[in-house]
Amino acid sequence: MSERDGMKAWGAGASPEIMMDLLTPHLADITADGLSLTGDVTADEIGLTGADTQLEGSLAVGLDLTKFERTICVTGVVEGTAVRECVRCLAPFPEPLAFALRVVYEPEPKAVPAAAKRMDHRKRAVEPVEIEPDETDDEIYHYAGDHLELAPMLREQVILSDPMHPLCKLDCAGLCPQCGKNLNDGRCACQEEAPANPFQALKSLKTEQK
Ligand SMILES: [Zn+2]
Ligand SMILES: [Zn+2]
Repeated sequence: MSERDGMKAWGAGASPEIMMDLLTPHLADITADGLSLTGDVTADEIGLTGADTQLEGSLAVGLDLTKFERTICVTGVVEGTAVRECVRCLAPFPEPLAFALRVVYEPEPKAVPAAAKRMDHRKRAVEPVEIEPDETDDEIYHYAGDHLELAPMLREQVILSDPMHPLCKLDCAGLCPQCGKNLNDGRCACQEEAPANPFQALKSLKTEQK
């Protein structure tokens, strides 16, 4: 539970302090009408390192927070530009990054209440009661105290949006397996090796068997 100094209002204006609230909105500010947050965040601010997704510039974030009792539903969109490495030619290339997110924040699960423990002392062997979060499609994050920490969630969502096989272009020619030249820049001097014909191999195998 961290005490925040005098930063209460999420209002008009765009001071750097307001930016801090974009990533740490207070529960008290999520009214019955919800709370809309928009702004730009940098890779640093959400804890993205070079080993994670690389960004070109900052990310534009637009989030809507709604509260259902102690559960906060966060929906929104994240847009920016990522720098990918092509799986074929290994060249870095910028790629638009845009995704929608929908997650929920719940209070940090508490320890099993004392009442549950002494519910039935005749059944000592029974394993402790564990309260599992409801299985839904929403990803569940937790908050403690009076505000949400959105940065770790945003970092994770950005990483989850990474494509499995980024390609600089659909018909990327890749690198020559022999000399390593980027074949998008033109052909290399290597002799093209004729691929072994699997049918030829099968044929000779059959002949041997006869
Ligand atoms: Zn490529
Ligand atoms: Zn080559």
